[in-house]
Amino acid sequence: MKIICIGRNYAAHIDELHNERPKDPVVFLKPDTTIGQKNHPFYLPHFSNDVHHEIEVVVKINRIGKHIQEQFAHKYYQEIGLGIDFTARDLQQTLKSKGLPWEKAKAFDGATALGNWFDKSQFEDLNKLHFELRKNGQVVQKGTTAQMLWSIDALIAYVSQFFTLKIGDILFTGTPSGVGPVVENDRLEAFLEGQPALQLNVK
Ligand code: ZN
Repeated sequence: MKIICIGRNYAAHIDELHNERPKDPVVFLKPDTTIGQKNHPFYLPHFSNDVHHEIEVVVKINRIGKHIQEQFAHKYYQEIGLGIDFTARDLQQTLKSKGLPWEKAKAFDGATALGNWFDKSQFEDLNKLHFELRKNGQVVQKGTTAQMLWSIDALIAYVSQFFTLKIGDILFTGTPSGVGPVVENDRLEAFLEGQPALQLNVK
């Protein structure tokens, strides 16, 4: 399986990193080896001193598809949840400034945290989902899918022009503002519509 990630899908996060608002979604991939074991700690990598949390709404693809039209995109996923796209921000900034690919900063082992999956039918409107990330009990990121520049279905339509979507693939839909560093012994807890969706400790 593959993990397809979207960058710069929330205007406030684009501004906090001083990035330009994109004309098209920013897309990158992470391999399955980035997925940390559920309920296991996230281990800080030795090559970074500034690893950031990026909380994101994620969907799990459940049908194979290519060139999916936006109006049919909802048929390609049933489960939704939250994930953290851990990012070695210092390394990413260095790579970005040289025009180099980001993989070392985002696709290292353990850089993807996933939590519980929820059946999407329990939510009234996927375009108005509220979610938040708490670090040591304090809310650090808070967003709603209503703030996305591209909706989940629009993203599926877009990325499937380039990549065949397969069963089990996961789409990360971008992070809202409030990204920030994690340090040893931090406790991260994420909530989707008020329901506990993901918990982990940083080691
Ligand atoms: Zn991200």
